[in-house]
Amino acid sequence: MRTINSDEITAAIKEMCIRANIHLPCDVMNRLKQTAQTEINPLGQDTLQKLAENAQYAETAEMPICQDTGMAVIFAEIGQEVHILGNLEEAIHEGVRQGYTKGYLRKSVVSDPLNRINTNDNTPAVIHYQITQGDKIKLTVAPKGFGSENMSALKMLKPADGKEGVIDFVIDTAKNAGSNPCPPIVVGVGIGGDFELCAKLAKQALLLPLDHKPENEYYYNMQCEILERINQLGIGPQGFGGNTTALGVNILNYPTHIAGLPVAVNISCHVTRHIERII
Ligand code: SF4
Repeated sequence: MRTINSDEITAAIKEMCIRANIHLPCDVMNRLKQTAQTEINPLGQDTLQKLAENAQYAETAEMPICQDTGMAVIFAEIGQEVHILGNLEEAIHEGVRQGYTKGYLRKSVVSDPLNRINTNDNTPAVIHYQITQGDKIKLTVAPKGFGSENMSALKMLKPADGKEGVIDFVIDTAKNAGSNPCPPIVVGVGIGGDFELCAKLAKQALLLPLDHKPENEYYYNMQCEILERINQLGIGPQGFGGNTTALGVNILNYPTHIAGLPVAVNISCHVTRHIERII
């Protein structure tokens, strides 16, 4: 059994909140630059170059890539041979509190969804826990802006809707989103499980590299087809038109009930941020 002090978790989360908001993952940055070469609309091309320049400047100047520094979504994978000294959940919230305050990141969380009083420190975070093998803790911080979160969708399809039903739902969701999620978008798709698990899978799919290839070729082909069809919608970078509406599509799947086919689509923007640390 390995002992980890909760202060260590707070310090890691604090640093990760700041870093995640400044640093765009390399795969997203590279895809922005690549698509600037293949975009057919000159205005869209210019927009993609500006988005890449903005992200580069944020890194150099150590400033947030976007004014919406998001709600802090945390995935905590806890090894079953770890003993945590102190309160894990409070340690994570404290890390978010310190990170958003010390990093001068926008505080975007309200304490009640209807009465809407800002908590002024971006807490609480949304935390997903998983127990894993081993004596380490893997933390992922993924700040999520709501321009894109608001355009996400979930549907309980019928088994008979099949693959085509899933693809149509994802395309419709991207089409309805239009320019709202600050395209080019990244699309996370969760298929299977139950109502809440498919939503979690869709969020986790956003953490995968843009060139992630699922083991099952079937799902890889689906990813390619969906990406191609979204890019044929013509929405384009920031909605200015063009053939670059999405940078990538990732699918995660899970077994489900004989009577159901749950599908969730979590839309993210060109600022698809996430960072990992292993303690
Ligand atoms: S959707 Fe993304 S790019 Fe647009 S405002 Fe929100 S965080 Fe920023």
